[in-house]
Amino acid sequence: MFRKYRKKSPWILHYNAGSCNGCDIEILAALAPKYDLERFGVINTGNPKQSDIFLVTGPVTFRSRERLVELYTQMPEPKVVIALGSCTCTGGVFRDMYNVEDGIDRYIPVDVYVPGCAASPELLIDGVVKALEILEEKTKAIEKPFRLFKEASSENGIINRRHSALKVGEKDEED
Ligand code: SF4
Repeated sequence: MFRKYRKKSPWILHYNAGSCNGCDIEILAALAPKYDLERFGVINTGNPKQSDIFLVTGPVTFRSRERLVELYTQMPEPKVVIALGSCTCTGGVFRDMYNVEDGIDRYIPVDVYVPGCAASPELLIDGVVKALEILEEKTKAIEKPFRLFKEASSENGIINRRHSALKVGEKDEED
């Protein structure tokens, strides 16, 4: 049931792991009325425990890596990670610097890579749309084990649950 609503109102947690702020400014532009990212129901929240999408900018630095992992682990499943900007994907212009450890996928799994220096609002919107598709798939996979019964049938006002159990491998109509 939550699948439908989660896709319509995903909450985003934005974290700057060490960026130059270029991509962060593009995020603000995407939220402004011209691009209006919020038309997808997106809300930029500061609480990892209520977030569905982890939007990270900047490469992993020695000072940010622990916080990056901490925030990721605090987010409930299902969650999707977007790496926004070339330096978030691979280290970009900061690669091989003494205080930088390349892209964020060295520490947390990334679902959507959005390259670009800076990544434009259009690319961010494409990335969020892709992330919503992945979020729906992950939600489906999580909900599946709990859906053990089909809708009970009803005949002459009598509810019949005898044939409502799903067989192993059988697909529910909602799938
Ligand atoms: S990708 Fe470029 S513009 Fe974006 S945070 Fe990294 S260095 Fe800055």
